Amino acid sequence: MSKFNKCIIPPYTPWQDTTPGGVVTSTGNAHEFKTGDWRAMKPVWHEDKCKHCLLCFPVCPDSSIMVSEKKMTGVDFDHCKGCGVCVEACPFGAFDFVPEGE
Ligand code: SF4
Ligand code: SF4
Repeated sequence: MSKFNKCIIPPYTPWQDTTPGGVVTSTGNAHEFKTGDWRAMKPVWHEDKCKHCLLCFPVCPDSSIMVSEKKMTGVDFDHCKGCGVCVEACPFGAFDFVPEGE
C-alpha cells in the first residue's frame, strides 16, 4: 500500500506524508475523524426541555445526536461540527447555541 492510500492522518503529520490535497481516499471511516475539533459554535442540550420527539436526530449531518431506547441522551461532541441545524429543528427550544468554550 502506498502512503497515499492511508485513510487516517494523525495530528502533526508532515505535509509530505498526507494525501494530495488532503483527499480522503477510502470510505466508512467517519468515526475515525474527530470532526468536533472544527467546531466554533456548539449546541447545549437542556434535558429538562427535551420532549424526545427526535426531530433533531435525522437532520444532524454528523450523526451526533445520541439516542438510546427511543430517547435523546445527548450530543456526541467528538463529531458534532456545530452547524446548528439541530438547534433550528428543535420545536421545543431544548438547545442553546453558544460559542465553543462557553
Ligand atoms: S450542531 Fe450540527 S453537527 Fe452538532 S449535533 Fe447539531 S446538527 Fe449535529
Ligand atoms: S428536537 Fe428538541 S425536543 Fe426533540 S429530541 Fe431533539 S432536543 Fe429533544
